[in-house]
Amino acid sequence: MALGLDRIRGVTIWLRGIVAFLLGASWPCAPLLWGDHKEGLPKAVGSKAGEGGETKGAAMESSRENSQDWKKVLSSEVYRVTREKGTEPPFSGKYCHHYAPGYYVCVCCGAPLLFSETKFDSGTGWPSFYAALRPEAIRTQPDYSHGMVREEILCARCHAHLGHRFPDGPPPTGLRYCVNSLALRFCHATSPSVSKGVRPDRVERAVFAAGCFWGVEAAFRKTPGVAATCVGYTGGNVPNPTYRLVCTGTTGHAEAVEVLYDPGVVSYGMLLKVFEKIHDPTSYHRQGPDWGSQYRSAIFYDTPEQREEAERWKKEAQKRYSASIVTEILPAGPFYEAEEYHQRYHEKHGLMGCGQ
Ligand SMILES: [Zn+2]
Repeated sequence: MALGLDRIRGVTIWLRGIVAFLLGASWPCAPLLWGDHKEGLPKAVGSKAGEGGETKGAAMESSRENSQDWKKVLSSEVYRVTREKGTEPPFSGKYCHHYAPGYYVCVCCGAPLLFSETKFDSGTGWPSFYAALRPEAIRTQPDYSHGMVREEILCARCHAHLGHRFPDGPPPTGLRYCVNSLALRFCHATSPSVSKGVRPDRVERAVFAAGCFWGVEAAFRKTPGVAATCVGYTGGNVPNPTYRLVCTGTTGHAEAVEVLYDPGVVSYGMLLKVFEKIHDPTSYHRQGPDWGSQYRSAIFYDTPEQREEAERWKKEAQKRYSASIVTEILPAGPFYEAEEYHQRYHEKHGLMGCGQ
């Protein structure tokens, strides 16, 4: 009986999603009318906008939102969804039927938002989750557009529009976070032995550049306490670059690795030790056989605390080298995911070196 009701509900959600999209409305995951009648309006609407409150990096996050010209750094379709509250067509997003183990971060600012274990198939055509990674990662606010009352969900750090939240999800929360794929980037989980003890609700982000990202990612994916990684390009001034373009040396981007880690298992300081161990921080624009600014040594910090630790590491590490450390320490900016064939390259090919 329960299964029968679930199927009816799934079909209803699916039909409403299709009808909504055909009507041209900007409403991913339309609310269930029968659910509204049965339960009343969603409990949080109008009462808990901005739930979760401020985080420790709030000042930085706020300035990040104000100072960035998102239009210059995002693709037009990502800009429309995340900054203009747009909606991708149902079943069009790359994470609609994506169930690999890992974490989803904000495509704009990299904040960890969602965990694959809470993802489920809602049948709506949009990625659906029954919980946020932690309550304060995703803020909510009432949305009265299109003659409906809904709960909009946003990245708490940069206020990117993600989608909506509805009270018709599965247990244990009964919630459905209905999210546009275009608002997310996926970081693939490390092995169970590496992520042993990791608590998803504690996961934070760090970004390092230390030469060819194949080897850098491989090293962090072996570091206990690292939950997930993604390789990409950052630090430059060309939006959405390809590997080929980065290799020309004209984009200013470095090959970098986004590392999601649990500071309760491995500290940022420990990650800095790994960072130092895997490359030569005194080598300017070169690591081994790889030459060029894309192979430069850099730390892109996410919080003032990370910046402090990185500065402290550089000062201490300098005592171990006769040559000057050339590692750049910069605020994390837009991070562009590298092509799929670069992701987890060593795991896929069993290589030890870069061999590009
Ligand atoms: Zn964000």
